[in-house]
Amino acid sequence: MTRFAFDIHATDGKARTGTIRMKRGDIRTPAFMPVGTAATVKAMKVEDVRAAGADIILGNTYHLMLRPGAERMARLGGLHKFMGWDRPILTDSGGYQVMSLSDLRKITEEGVTFASHLDGSRHMLSPERSMEIQRLLGSDIVMCFDECPRADQPRDVIAKSMEMSMRWARRSRDGFDAGGEHAERSALFGIQQGALDEGLRKASADALTDIGFDGYAIGGLAVGEGQEAMFATLDFAPQQLPADRPRYLMGVGKPDDLVGAVERGVDMFDCVLPTRSGRNGQAFTWNGPLNMRNARHAEDMGPLDERCPCPTCTKFSRAYLNHLIKSGEMLGAMLLTEHNLWFYQQLMAGMRAAIAESRFSAFAADFRRNYLSR
Ligand SMILES: [Zn+2]
Repeated sequence: MTRFAFDIHATDGKARTGTIRMKRGDIRTPAFMPVGTAATVKAMKVEDVRAAGADIILGNTYHLMLRPGAERMARLGGLHKFMGWDRPILTDSGGYQVMSLSDLRKITEEGVTFASHLDGSRHMLSPERSMEIQRLLGSDIVMCFDECPRADQPRDVIAKSMEMSMRWARRSRDGFDAGGEHAERSALFGIQQGALDEGLRKASADALTDIGFDGYAIGGLAVGEGQEAMFATLDFAPQQLPADRPRYLMGVGKPDDLVGAVERGVDMFDCVLPTRSGRNGQAFTWNGPLNMRNARHAEDMGPLDERCPCPTCTKFSRAYLNHLIKSGEMLGAMLLTEHNLWFYQQLMAGMRAAIAESRFSAFAADFRRNYLSR
């Protein structure tokens, strides 16, 4: 069976639909990866994550290295066995969350030393250690270790950071390739940096392509720059990366972000939004997001979304969900999370079908007319 292959079945404008084939299963693209931060997609059993339509989930290296720990995870048989998910898992490198969550960071050419946000204990992440941790977890798609600087810094700061990330990409490649059996059954993705600057993005894409990766991520976006600036960057960034490899926009996003990014040539996404929103009482529907705490739902016996075939919409009313959320019942978070994951997967399936049938621009226009109308 093939280690990693990407077949593009159809293109429509810049949008593409295809299949990534890996030993643990196929990934239909454009793909949305639910986030399983701490070896769980919060409030969801893995069989229900699969039933929603997910082909792959994401695990967070930063959280798992701190608890339960990478070496312990390896002794327990790896992340798949630990959490009961036998399909592909993509792990991030830990770099982004070290920058956003930990204390007392010190960044050098060697890597990053930091204090755990859990107990203050000292840890180190470098390209080599990140590759080792992702191997110990048993990741199927490993991400290069990089630095994600804030996009609002001066160009020379962004440039220096990007150049160090490209040296780290080389070290990540070497560390991954030294991983023996794991390297023979898993894949490694590079990460383009360069913030909103077209020239820096091009230099980063060229450096990564010279090294050579199975897929290429677009990093450093969805960090507060806003949708307009993100789309302006996506007008050029995906096309700077190899056309025959998957392109993954990290940490994105809202449903309308996904449609706009697929329109610009992106194949893969991950985001905490459907799960986090579900725990906060927000539901995504084809007619836009709903706040289920709102009193207007209190006597509404209709479903969350008329068009949604998910278990929540099939069985329960808006009135019941409103009651559960207002009462702080954990079932409310579970039912909204499940619906939100189904909604995201239905949106991806809708985009895949529209691209295959050369009607993506009509699909996108129809989506925006309904979703953004309120
Ligand atoms: Zn539903």
